[in-house]
Amino acid sequence: MPGWFNLFRARSVHGVEQITAGKRVLGILPTVAHCYRVGSTLIDAGPPNHANRVLDHLGNGIEHVVLTHHHEDHVGAAHLLEHEGATVHAPKASLPDLQHPPELLAYQKRVWGRPRPVEAKPIDGKVSTPDLTLETMETPGHGRDHAAFFEPERGWLFSGDAYLGERDILRSCEDLGLLLEDLGTLASLDAEVLFPGHGSVRDDPKSAIEHLQRHYEELRDRAEPLVSSGVDPGEIRSRLLGREGIIRYYTQGDFSKQNLVEELVGLLDADP
Ligand SMILES: [Zn+2]
Repeated sequence: MPGWFNLFRARSVHGVEQITAGKRVLGILPTVAHCYRVGSTLIDAGPPNHANRVLDHLGNGIEHVVLTHHHEDHVGAAHLLEHEGATVHAPKASLPDLQHPPELLAYQKRVWGRPRPVEAKPIDGKVSTPDLTLETMETPGHGRDHAAFFEPERGWLFSGDAYLGERDILRSCEDLGLLLEDLGTLASLDAEVLFPGHGSVRDDPKSAIEHLQRHYEELRDRAEPLVSSGVDPGEIRSRLLGREGIIRYYTQGDFSKQNLVEELVGLLDADP
């Protein structure tokens, strides 16, 4: 597709190796995903269409792969690393979708590629590897199986897709009420650095997370009088967020402003 290019980058950020891979198209979607290596432990595994590139970079030095959730842009190299002898750890709720990857929409195949089956070990509370002891924070707002991981000694928070920064769209799998609860959970941790699945590493986790909470809460407050006076969701979207951009059409509605508005309306209906 014109305008797309492949990105691969590895660099050290706050003592953690950040490996970034994916197809990039500026301003459209968070299509480029990060994984993080600490010694022989890898957290998340990039998109399937960059799996070989990630494996080439890692060589045979990975013994443990820890997945935040089953989404294709986070699990790409997991099956290759498993084949090389690594143990793959994942939230228990991710296991069925890792064993039998769900059907993807056309854009998902184009952007990230199809994941291959992975036999992961279910995470129960903590993940202990020779490099890290990670506390598991269940964060189902992005998707029912999602977990974030917190390393308390160094204050490292690996947030997967539980923190994606300020945006005016939601993915169809996201539940805004749960996302807000998850952000509250993550903000309460004594984190020093936030390593997200997409976007910039943050050295101010608490204020970054609270900023995002406020963003959604302000939208909810602005939607409230419109919902209570019966304005329909399409008009609320138009007034609060403006027109849908190309993302909704490109992703067949998987990402859209309307998803966010419908979640705001749902929140207000549940808690008028
Ligand atoms: Zn995701």
